[in-house]
This record gives sequence, structure tokens and C-alpha cells, in this order.
Amino acid sequence: MIKQQIQELAKNIFNDVVANRRHLHSHPELSFHEVETSAFVASKLDELGIAYTKMADTGLVALIKGDKPSTNVVALRADMDALPITEANEVPYKSQNTGVMHACGHDVHTSSLLGVAKILTALKSEFGGTIKLIFQPAEEKLPGGASIMIKEGVLENPKPQAVIGQHVMPLIDAGKVGFRSGQYMASTDELYVTVTGKGGHAAQPQQNIDPVIITAHILTALQQVVSRFSDPKSPCVLSFGKVTANGATNVIPNEVKLEGTFRALDEKWRAEAHQKMVKMATGIAESMGATCDFNIVKGYPFLTNEPKLTASARGFAEDYLGKENVLDLDIWMAGEDFAYYTQVTDACFYRLGTRNESRGITSSVHTPTFDIEETALETSVGLMAYIAVKQLGN
Ligand SMILES: [Zn+2]
Ligand SMILES: [Zn+2]
Repeated sequence: MIKQQIQELAKNIFNDVVANRRHLHSHPELSFHEVETSAFVASKLDELGIAYTKMADTGLVALIKGDKPSTNVVALRADMDALPITEANEVPYKSQNTGVMHACGHDVHTSSLLGVAKILTALKSEFGGTIKLIFQPAEEKLPGGASIMIKEGVLENPKPQAVIGQHVMPLIDAGKVGFRSGQYMASTDELYVTVTGKGGHAAQPQQNIDPVIITAHILTALQQVVSRFSDPKSPCVLSFGKVTANGATNVIPNEVKLEGTFRALDEKWRAEAHQKMVKMATGIAESMGATCDFNIVKGYPFLTNEPKLTASARGFAEDYLGKENVLDLDIWMAGEDFAYYTQVTDACFYRLGTRNESRGITSSVHTPTFDIEETALETSVGLMAYIAVKQLGN
């Protein structure tokens, strides 16, 4: 019964959700600067008569309580920030903030959660329990809005039994969603390495300490962390995308700089790998007469979907969309600050299909041509509202 009610409401508010999404898309703001976005969300909550509190400067938290008796609490999370990308799409809702673009679909997540709020407010008399709405800033930038919201108490008073989040995925057709139980996304650490030797004329290597050749040894050796020390059953990535040796054909430079990323799905191994990389790189540099400064900037932890919660959320999705529209996801070695919620409470992060090949909507997130098939918004608001209500035990 409640399923049909939600489906009907999702259809009825579709145009409104599209309008909100288009407004947010054309007014994107960078991480930790979501001032207008936050004010927009606040005004929409005001319209619905939903009280909210501010958190992490631009974040908002609100509660919707069903009329039936229940002390259960489920939190729903949407991120609000955009990326420093210039939009290349020629659409009526193109970004009006040059150089900033909702290229990761956070406009979709925010407008969807507003739609969910509208549906659940209309259905208050039909369910029991409390839905906590989390509008979170700065997913795209360290230390991540999620970590700040958690520190400021977003998961307290009341404490949710589960946190549920969704993210657009242009690989999946609109109308479908994807789930994965257990390990899903990686921890992401940035690596900044400087190998310092002694530069000089390239014709007199015996008088110099060549940091270029030493760096070559370090780069090759470090891959052993992945190929020999890491458990082959647990995915792990080490990539260096930037190597700068500012010498010349006949000049050996003083130093070489490296920038890279280390990704894993196991916190214990992550810490161990950090130590091994530093030890190996500094040891190699020293043995060849150079020094090595190995700086690791820790990013988000790995994201794990609690199996029981994920199984039940997936079941509700199959019930709402039909089995054929719910897919299995593979591990994805990108980072996501929703991982912080998964580290402290039961949580489930699923993917919303936004692809429409026939309309050429296939671009990856974080590209200037990313866009979505907007019919996905009807799936998005209805499904999230349904999962929330069912997860509360209705
Ligand atoms: Zn992103
Ligand atoms: Zn994102």
C-alpha cells in the first residue's frame, strides 16, 4: 500500500524535483562554500515546515517523524558540493558559475533528498519512526564534510540505526540501481615524495648523486608493496601520476619529486603499507647516497556496506523497482567520504543509474560533459523514500 502511495507521489513531484535539480545544477558551489546551496535547501525545508539545524557551516540536519509509534531512526545522506570543472554541456540549466560544475551529480543527490522529504512529509500518518535528513557539504575535498558532521554530532540525538546514501552512476541505465554488500570503495591516500641527491654536469656522474636513477629504483621497488606484500585477495593500488625531474639532457637535477595515490580496502593493511613504503623508499635513497622525504596525506577510509542492512535495502529495491532493475556492483577503487559513516555505524551506499545512451548521456562523473537522464529522479526519490520507510520497520 505504502509502495503505491510513494510511487504515485514520486510521479506527482517529478517536475518539482527536476526544477530543484536544474536550479542547483546551474548554481554550483565548491566544497566548503555551499552557501547558496545551503540557503536553497533551508528554504525548501521551510516550505515543507521541516525544522533543521545547521552543522559544519553549510550542512543541514532535519528530522521527519512518522505519526505511528516507533523509536527507530534511519538517516539519509546527500552531499551538496560541486567540482572545479568548466561545464561543456549546452543545456538550459548549464552552470552559471564559470569554472564550477556539478560534475559528480551531487545536485541530483540534494534535489532527490528534498523530494524524499516532500514524500515522507505527505505520508507522515502512514509510517512510524524518524527519518534523519543529512545535507552534507564538501564530499570532494579533504577532510570531507562527513568527517566534520560526525565530529559535530550528526549521528547523535537521535542516533540512527542505519545511514543510507546514494550516488549517481552513468554506467547504469536510468531506472536501475546497483548494490554491493561488504567492501565497496577504497581508502585514498596522497603520496608526495622528494628524492634529493646532488646535481651537476651529466658528463660527470661520478661527482654527482643522481636522484633520477635513484627514483627509478624507488618507483620500481615500491610496486612490491602491491605485488608481494599485499594480500592478493584484498585489492590495492599504487600509482604515481606525476614525476618531476627538472634537469636537461646534459644536467642532472638536485632533486626529483613524485606524486601518487595509494588505495586499499583494509585499514590494518593500509597502515602497514604506509610504513613499508616509507621504509623502502628512504632505505633505497640512503643506500645510494641520497635522501628521501616521503609525505603521506591520509584521505578517506575505505567504504564498507553492512551486509545485513545492504541485503534488506536491496530487497526493498527489488520490491520497488522489480528484480531486473537491481544490479550487482563491482568493487570501485575510488574514494568517497560516505566511508566515514560506514566506519562508525551500519550504513549502505548504493548507485543510482543515470545513463541514457540513446540521448548520448554516457559521460563519466568528473568530466565537463557529465549529465544525467532526468527520469532517474523519479526512481531516486521514490526508492529512497521506500527504503527509508521499510527500513524503519513499516
Ligand atoms: Zn566526485
Ligand atoms: Zn560524488
